Amino acid sequence: MIRRRVIPFISRGTESNSYLIEGEEAIAIIDTGMGGEVTLKVKRSLSSFQGKELFIVNTHCHVDHTRGNNTFKGVVMMHEIEAKNALDPRVNLSYLFDEPISLKTDKEIKDEDEIDLGGYFLRVLHTPGHTSGSICLYSEEDKVLFSGDTFFPEGGIGRTDFPTGDLYSLIDSLERLLSLDFEYLCPGHGPVVRNGRRHLNLAIEIAKSLI
Ligand SMILES: [Zn+2]
Repeated sequence: MIRRRVIPFISRGTESNSYLIEGEEAIAIIDTGMGGEVTLKVKRSLSSFQGKELFIVNTHCHVDHTRGNNTFKGVVMMHEIEAKNALDPRVNLSYLFDEPISLKTDKEIKDEDEIDLGGYFLRVLHTPGHTSGSICLYSEEDKVLFSGDTFFPEGGIGRTDFPTGDLYSLIDSLERLLSLDFEYLCPGHGPVVRNGRRHLNLAIEIAKSLI
Protein backbone atom coordinates (compact mmCIF):
# COMPACT_ATOMS: atom_id res chain seq x y z
CA MET A 1 0.00 0.00 0.00
CA ILE A 2 2.79 2.39 0.90
CA ARG A 3 4.34 2.13 -2.58
CA ARG A 4 1.16 3.44 -4.19
CA ARG A 5 1.78 7.05 -3.24
CA VAL A 6 4.88 7.42 -1.09
CA ILE A 7 8.30 7.18 -2.75
CA PRO A 8 11.15 6.98 -0.24
CA PHE A 9 14.66 8.25 -1.03
CA ILE A 10 16.93 6.73 1.58
CA SER A 11 20.21 8.49 2.24
CA ARG A 12 23.48 6.60 2.25
CA GLY A 13 25.33 9.49 3.86
CA THR A 14 24.77 12.28 6.37
CA GLU A 15 22.00 14.07 4.50
CA SER A 16 18.43 13.24 5.45
CA ASN A 17 16.03 10.88 3.75
CA SER A 18 13.41 12.44 1.55
CA TYR A 19 9.88 11.28 0.73
CA LEU A 20 7.83 12.17 -2.31
CA ILE A 21 4.07 11.86 -1.98
CA GLU A 22 1.59 12.24 -4.80
CA GLY A 23 -1.96 13.43 -4.33
CA GLU A 24 -4.60 14.16 -6.98
CA GLU A 25 -3.75 17.86 -7.07
CA ALA A 26 -0.40 18.34 -5.38
CA ILE A 27 2.92 16.70 -4.64
CA ALA A 28 4.67 16.94 -1.29
CA ILE A 29 8.36 16.49 -0.64
CA ILE A 30 9.03 15.76 3.01
CA ASP A 31 12.56 17.08 3.66
CA THR A 32 14.87 17.76 0.74
CA GLY A 33 18.28 16.44 1.81
CA MET A 34 21.38 18.53 1.75
CA GLY A 35 21.81 19.13 -1.95
CA GLY A 36 23.59 15.78 -2.42
CA GLU A 37 22.59 12.42 -3.87
CA VAL A 38 19.14 12.37 -2.22
CA THR A 39 18.21 15.84 -3.47
CA LEU A 40 19.31 14.97 -7.01
CA LYS A 41 17.32 11.72 -7.05
CA VAL A 42 14.18 13.53 -5.90
CA LYS A 43 14.68 16.16 -8.59
CA ARG A 44 14.99 13.50 -11.26
CA SER A 45 11.81 11.73 -10.11
CA LEU A 46 9.88 14.96 -9.92
CA SER A 47 10.06 15.47 -13.67
CA SER A 48 7.41 12.76 -14.08
CA PHE A 49 4.93 14.72 -11.92
CA GLN A 50 4.68 17.86 -14.07
CA GLY A 51 1.70 20.15 -13.70
CA LYS A 52 0.89 19.60 -10.04
CA GLU A 53 1.45 22.09 -7.24
CA LEU A 54 4.55 21.34 -5.14
CA PHE A 55 4.71 21.55 -1.35
CA ILE A 56 8.06 21.27 0.44
CA VAL A 57 7.40 20.24 4.03
CA ASN A 58 10.39 20.33 6.37
CA THR A 59 10.17 18.27 9.56
CA HIS A 60 12.60 20.78 11.11
CA CYS A 61 15.16 23.38 10.09
CA HIS A 62 18.48 21.50 10.25
CA VAL A 63 20.44 21.89 7.02
CA ASP A 64 20.79 18.16 6.40
CA HIS A 65 16.98 18.23 5.87
CA THR A 66 16.57 21.66 4.28
CA ARG A 67 19.54 22.71 2.20
CA GLY A 68 17.99 20.97 -0.81
CA ASN A 69 14.91 23.25 -0.59
CA ASN A 70 16.23 25.80 -3.08
CA THR A 71 16.64 23.05 -5.71
CA PHE A 72 12.83 23.00 -6.04
CA LYS A 73 10.21 25.55 -6.94
CA GLY A 74 7.51 24.95 -4.37
CA VAL A 75 5.80 26.27 -1.27
CA VAL A 76 8.15 25.74 1.70
CA MET A 77 6.26 24.81 4.87
CA MET A 78 7.59 24.64 8.42
CA HIS A 79 6.03 24.78 11.86
CA GLU A 80 5.48 28.38 13.00
CA ILE A 81 8.16 28.04 15.71
CA GLU A 82 10.61 26.37 13.34
CA ALA A 83 10.12 29.08 10.72
CA LYS A 84 11.82 31.46 13.17
CA ASN A 85 14.51 28.92 14.12
CA ALA A 86 15.27 28.42 10.42
CA LEU A 87 16.40 32.02 10.02
CA ASP A 88 19.26 31.54 12.49
CA PRO A 89 22.41 29.81 11.13
CA ARG A 90 23.28 28.64 14.67
CA VAL A 91 19.92 26.90 15.06
CA ASN A 92 19.67 25.50 11.53
CA LEU A 93 23.29 24.27 12.03
CA SER A 94 24.58 25.69 8.75
CA TYR A 95 27.36 27.45 10.71
CA LEU A 96 28.83 23.99 11.42
CA PHE A 97 29.40 23.55 7.70
CA ASP A 98 31.13 26.94 7.25
CA GLU A 99 28.28 28.12 5.06
CA PRO A 100 25.86 30.10 7.28
CA ILE A 101 22.46 30.42 5.66
CA SER A 102 19.13 31.84 6.70
CA LEU A 103 16.25 29.63 5.53
CA LYS A 104 12.94 31.15 4.51
CA THR A 105 9.49 29.63 4.96
CA ASP A 106 6.57 30.44 2.64
CA LYS A 107 3.78 29.01 4.78
CA GLU A 108 3.86 28.50 8.53
CA ILE A 109 1.99 25.43 9.75
CA LYS A 110 0.83 24.38 13.20
CA ASP A 111 -0.24 21.38 15.24
CA GLU A 112 -3.21 19.45 13.82
CA ASP A 113 -3.14 21.24 10.46
CA GLU A 114 -4.04 18.97 7.54
CA ILE A 115 -1.95 19.35 4.39
CA ASP A 116 -4.31 18.51 1.54
CA LEU A 117 -2.70 17.03 -1.58
CA GLY A 118 -6.10 16.46 -3.17
CA GLY A 119 -7.73 13.38 -1.73
CA TYR A 120 -4.67 12.62 0.37
CA PHE A 121 -4.03 14.25 3.73
CA LEU A 122 -0.96 14.68 5.90
CA ARG A 123 -1.69 15.60 9.50
CA VAL A 124 0.84 17.90 11.18
CA LEU A 125 1.89 16.90 14.70
CA HIS A 126 4.04 19.35 16.64
CA THR A 127 6.66 17.15 18.34
CA PRO A 128 9.23 19.42 20.04
CA GLY A 129 12.37 17.90 21.53
CA HIS A 130 14.97 17.53 18.79
CA THR A 131 14.21 21.20 18.01
CA SER A 132 11.44 23.36 19.44
CA GLY A 133 9.46 23.44 16.19
CA SER A 134 9.97 19.86 14.99
CA ILE A 135 7.00 18.09 13.47
CA CYS A 136 5.97 14.59 12.51
CA LEU A 137 3.53 14.00 9.64
CA TYR A 138 0.88 11.30 9.68
CA SER A 139 -1.19 9.68 6.97
CA GLU A 140 -4.15 7.97 8.60
CA GLU A 141 -5.17 6.41 5.29
CA ASP A 142 -1.86 4.63 4.72
CA LYS A 143 -0.96 4.24 8.43
CA VAL A 144 2.38 5.96 7.84
CA LEU A 145 4.28 8.18 10.25
CA PHE A 146 7.06 10.46 8.97
CA SER A 147 9.11 11.05 12.10
CA GLY A 148 11.86 13.43 10.95
CA ASP A 149 14.57 13.35 13.63
CA THR A 150 12.13 12.80 16.52
CA PHE A 151 12.83 9.06 16.52
CA PHE A 152 14.34 6.36 14.32
CA PRO A 153 14.10 2.57 13.85
CA GLU A 154 15.25 0.35 16.71
CA GLY A 155 14.63 3.03 19.32
CA GLY A 156 16.99 5.71 18.06
CA ILE A 157 16.05 9.21 19.20
CA GLY A 158 16.94 12.65 17.90
CA ARG A 159 19.77 14.50 19.61
CA THR A 160 18.58 17.08 22.13
CA ASP A 161 21.91 18.87 22.63
CA PHE A 162 21.56 21.21 19.64
CA PRO A 163 20.04 24.70 20.09
CA THR A 164 16.33 24.59 21.14
CA GLY A 165 16.58 20.81 21.84
CA ASP A 166 15.06 19.43 25.06
CA LEU A 167 14.94 15.82 26.27
CA TYR A 168 11.82 16.24 28.44
CA SER A 169 9.86 17.72 25.54
CA LEU A 170 11.07 14.86 23.34
CA ILE A 171 9.72 12.28 25.80
CA ASP A 172 6.33 14.07 25.93
CA SER A 173 6.26 14.16 22.13
CA LEU A 174 7.09 10.45 21.81
CA GLU A 175 4.36 9.53 24.30
CA ARG A 176 1.85 11.59 22.38
CA LEU A 177 2.63 9.60 19.22
CA LEU A 178 1.49 6.42 21.02
CA SER A 179 -2.11 7.47 20.34
CA LEU A 180 -1.60 7.09 16.58
CA ASP A 181 -2.47 3.96 14.68
CA PHE A 182 0.53 3.53 12.37
CA GLU A 183 2.29 0.58 10.77
CA TYR A 184 5.05 2.16 8.66
CA LEU A 185 7.75 4.36 10.12
CA CYS A 186 9.44 6.68 7.61
CA PRO A 187 12.29 8.29 9.56
CA GLY A 188 14.53 11.25 8.71
CA HIS A 189 17.53 8.91 8.72
CA GLY A 190 17.73 5.12 8.38
CA PRO A 191 15.46 2.60 6.65
CA VAL A 192 11.67 2.55 6.34
CA VAL A 193 10.35 -0.13 8.70
CA ARG A 194 7.07 -1.84 9.52
CA ASN A 195 5.61 -2.37 12.99
CA GLY A 196 6.33 1.29 13.73
CA ARG A 197 4.84 1.21 17.21
CA ARG A 198 7.43 -1.32 18.35
CA HIS A 199 10.14 1.13 17.31
CA LEU A 200 8.32 3.97 19.08
CA ASN A 201 8.06 2.01 22.32
CA LEU A 202 11.80 1.27 22.17
CA ALA A 203 12.52 4.98 21.60
CA ILE A 204 10.44 5.94 24.66
CA GLU A 205 12.31 3.40 26.78
CA ILE A 206 15.70 4.70 25.60
CA ALA A 207 14.74 8.38 25.98
CA LYS A 208 13.52 7.80 29.54
CA SER A 209 16.76 5.99 30.45
CA LEU A 210 18.65 9.22 29.65
CA ILE A 211 16.87 11.34 32.28
ZN1 LIG B 1 18.01 17.28 12.89
